Amino acid sequence: MTDFFDHGALVGVLTAQPLDRVLDYLAPEGGCALGAFVEVPLGPRKVIGVVWGPGQGGYDLAKVRPVNRVLDVAPMRDEMRSFLIRAADYTITPLSAMLRLATRAPGLGGGESMRKVYRLGHGDPDRQTDARRRVLEVLQAYGGLSFTLGELAEQAGVSTSVIKGLVKQGVVSEEDAPRDLPYPRLDPLRSGKALTGDQATASDALRDGVRGGAFGVTLLKGVTGSGKTEVYLEAVAECLAQGRQALVLLPEIALTAEFLTRVEARFGAKPAEWHSGVTMTERRRCWKMVGQGGAQVVVGARSALFLPFRDLGLIVVDEEHDSSYKQEDGALYNARDMAVLRASFAAAQVVLASATPSLESWANVEAGKYRRLDLTARFGAAVLPEMRAIDMRAEDLPGSRWISPSLASAVRTRVAAGEQSLLFLNRRGYAPVTICRACGHQIGCDHCDARMVEHRFQKRLVCHQCGETKPIPEACPSCGVEGKLAPVGPGVERLAEEVAEVFPDARVAVLSSDLFGSARALKDQILAIAQGAADIIIGTQLVAKGHNFPLLTLVGVIDADLGLQGSDLRAAERTFQLMRQVAGRAGRAEKPGLALLQTFQPEHPVIRAILSGDEEGFWRAEAAERKMAGVPPYGRMAGIVLSSPDLQAVFDLGGELARLDGPLRRIGAQVYGPAPAPIARIRGRHRVRLLVKADKTAPLQAALRDWVAQVRLPNNLRLQIDIDPQSFY
Ligand code: ADP
Ligand code: ZN
Repeated sequence: MTDFFDHGALVGVLTAQPLDRVLDYLAPEGGCALGAFVEVPLGPRKVIGVVWGPGQGGYDLAKVRPVNRVLDVAPMRDEMRSFLIRAADYTITPLSAMLRLATRAPGLGGGESMRKVYRLGHGDPDRQTDARRRVLEVLQAYGGLSFTLGELAEQAGVSTSVIKGLVKQGVVSEEDAPRDLPYPRLDPLRSGKALTGDQATASDALRDGVRGGAFGVTLLKGVTGSGKTEVYLEAVAECLAQGRQALVLLPEIALTAEFLTRVEARFGAKPAEWHSGVTMTERRRCWKMVGQGGAQVVVGARSALFLPFRDLGLIVVDEEHDSSYKQEDGALYNARDMAVLRASFAAAQVVLASATPSLESWANVEAGKYRRLDLTARFGAAVLPEMRAIDMRAEDLPGSRWISPSLASAVRTRVAAGEQSLLFLNRRGYAPVTICRACGHQIGCDHCDARMVEHRFQKRLVCHQCGETKPIPEACPSCGVEGKLAPVGPGVERLAEEVAEVFPDARVAVLSSDLFGSARALKDQILAIAQGAADIIIGTQLVAKGHNFPLLTLVGVIDADLGLQGSDLRAAERTFQLMRQVAGRAGRAEKPGLALLQTFQPEHPVIRAILSGDEEGFWRAEAAERKMAGVPPYGRMAGIVLSSPDLQAVFDLGGELARLDGPLRRIGAQVYGPAPAPIARIRGRHRVRLLVKADKTAPLQAALRDWVAQVRLPNNLRLQIDIDPQSFY
């Protein structure tokens, strides 16, 4: 295929508009390259697209409109186009939606690419004033650095007219400079920490892989605190030494700050950042520099996979088991799996790091597809925490209390010794249910089939499905009786109340994602806690993820049984991972840690596996069960959710799909449903689920496409296909 189109040639342009086809245009004056980012007219609008190939033709050429202009950014590489096509195919997502992920840089099309900058010029001003002297002092103090007009005015504490006056005389020079500057160079030759035997072995293996310059995936399994980060930073070093780019994915924005500091310590400068907490200007800079090679390392959230890397040599997926890697909105994809796909097109290495790998990755190792490296010991004096169950059946505890006497006494000992305790409860808010003691009514959301969660700090009831909030009513909305509404069950806010009563002298901090207005506030709080600003930390899932609290020696899990309820096929796996991760927060420094799990079923196999730490045994048992049931990772699944304000319509269409299962039967797949989804209504839309199960090797996507193509979607009915579903709500 030709990769350049001369002026007037017919080109096919893919846009991010939901049209689901490539549109024909005429190449602009000067022509355009295959993959070029262009601006094209679409109806009355101007939109951004990518030159995807030659035009289809077949129209009156006189009516085909020309491309407006070629954007001043690096053309999309072949490898990226192949990745988008495959990703769209795999997830059954329109290609245009995939392109949208790849073009999410603000101001890509417009904006000046140059701006004015100011530096020291020549000579002296005709007349010296205080203000003028301050400007020159600032410019001298910063050597050759250039400023924007605003920055310089602020630094010198003068108005911009003072600077402009100096420019007129040539004492300050004004130049055009690119708006988006490359990131500071990272130096891979700086030496890292001296590695232990295990670490060095793993690091050498990863470095060899990167040096080989081919695709490959490694599962780096190591207990929390074993030095996985140190080890994969060596792989990053090798990648940089090869002149290639590296991407590190983290599951949680709150973790980036600590990671940036570690990269700076290792390579002498901070890497580029890509996530929702980064300013628009920085995002544009990151997108452009990644494409031009002005960014060597990017630290980011899952969408960083769609950045236009010029030469991607390594992707690290840290905490690879984390369920937040699954995008549950819009294009449904799992960033861990897409990282592997992206790397396969880029001849890059992938490192999947975790203390508690997903069963998927574990199975890929067993099948010989991934290599596995193990770090078995914590670094330095730190030892793994001891884990014990507290049998709640034997504890003397009133109904509206959750901290057992055994746990309370363990916490008291820590407080007295100046050590920190973490009380873990994976429930935001004050109480998960508000019930009327007069009639038994539970307050639900008006738009969803969900109970509203009391958030006492906000003084409101909140729906965790749609975000709707309302004030806590005085009277029961059902029977009208006043003063009878009561909270049932604990959330972290309610636990905080109990902690304040049980440990009146302790300093308490609550870490829950909804209690912080900004990522910065959360980061500051985490830093303060790490430095000892609290005796007792109450936290949700948020704290399980990789934060280092050196003074923390006790973890108390308030309800270890919580995750075991429900029919999710990954319930056991998730509970196992979460409990081990949370426990791993304890005893990261010299002092040994202890994890206490409050449970009503200490003999449950999952609880027993968590306590014994027999991971291999747990995975083998879990794998055997999934094999028997033919579910992932040993079989394939797709979830189909139909939703509409019209209840009858979703059931009718669901029934029709279930009857028309020919295309699925041909590949040996089965359909289950339609059934009301576990959350049968969200935002006023009724939801019905179908589940498709197939053999691992069956061509599932093609069959699904044929299957749904048989029906016409009525207005206002949405059909969403979720390949490899992670949640079943
Ligand atoms: P993980 O990513 O497995 O949780 P980290 O890489 O964060 O582990 O290591 C845990 C702690 O131990 C960090 O503070 C890290 O700097 C330190 N550490 C690990 N390995 C070494 C080493 N070889 N030399 C010095 N410090 C180390
Ligand atoms: Zn709701």
